[in-house]
Amino acid sequence: MEQECPYCKSKRVIKNGTTRHGKQNHKCKNCHRQFVSNPQNQPIPEATKQTNHMERFNCTLRQRVARLVRKTLSFSKKLDNHIAMIWLFVHHYNTLIQSKILIIPS
Ligand SMILES: [Zn+2]
Repeated sequence: MEQECPYCKSKRVIKNGTTRHGKQNHKCKNCHRQFVSNPQNQPIPEATKQTNHMERFNCTLRQRVARLVRKTLSFSKKLDNHIAMIWLFVHHYNTLIQSKILIIPS
């Protein structure tokens, strides 16, 4: 089976030992980069990497809504009240953003 370099698509590929997991390692004679033919770990695509805004909002929710933190102080006895308080915070937060009182750095 002829190997192809995943970086420059060159066919000038030689075997270059094994990885520490025992897989065959290859080296491109064109761009001098090393690669494994069937890698177990794939790079994460750019589109799925961008979860930082959602993670930031989850952290803001945990920090500002005390009912999400622990089950002792300010604990919601009813699920409806719990959901209502989260929505109250979300609407308040969105109002602050729209009125530009709260500035989120981009
Ligand atoms: Zn190459």
